[in-house]
Amino acid sequence: MDFRKTEFVRSAAKAKDFPNDPSPRVVFVGRSNVGKSSTINAVVGKKGFARVSSVPGKTVFVNLFRVDEKGWLIDLPGYGYSKTSKEERERYSNLIDEYLTADQENIVRIYMIVDARHKPTADDVTMVQWVRHYGSPLTVVANKLDKLKKSEIEPNLARIREVLMLGEEDVLIPFSAEKGTNCDLLKADIQKAIEEN
Ligand code: GDP
Repeated sequence: MDFRKTEFVRSAAKAKDFPNDPSPRVVFVGRSNVGKSSTINAVVGKKGFARVSSVPGKTVFVNLFRVDEKGWLIDLPGYGYSKTSKEERERYSNLIDEYLTADQENIVRIYMIVDARHKPTADDVTMVQWVRHYGSPLTVVANKLDKLKKSEIEPNLARIREVLMLGEEDVLIPFSAEKGTNCDLLKADIQKAIEEN
């Protein structure tokens, strides 16, 4: 699978604009500013592909990308940005919920981006509960690994596993979008998810 052959198709704000073919979807979720766009850019090997923004919480759409004509890469709005209004936060979570509900059957794996430096937030924990509810396989990508000292890596990964209550079937990938650390591992995981389904 050639990730460089990923194309932006459209932004969707309503169920009627979600993909309408049965090919597999891999879905990216994460707190805003965690580096979700940077992670997608690293995967497709193009800088400035998914929008990298210095203004967190601006994406209010579900962004749909077609990967090498084999499946969909779905970029859900970033959640949990504290400075957005309550109404706006509700709008985001409604859209995330609407997408996950509408497309449940075709989602083959959810990729949740967290910050390797920090304890996952209450919003992250809620997101994992949603993933469990929808029954999708889960890969957690611990991004910004380059910001950790070597001695901090293992304890931080253990804390992420514990707080998110990850089990053996869940994949946890220490990652740096900036340095490209473990990008091959992430790409192999996505490819497997798309090609096995
Ligand atoms: P999004 O809101 O989740 O899409 O996050 P962005 O991709 O826009 O990234 C948010 C900020 O984090 C930007 O300033 C990025 O340059 C920075 N960032 C993203 N990934 C990494 C990483 O792996 N390491 C470091 N040091 N910074 C990163």
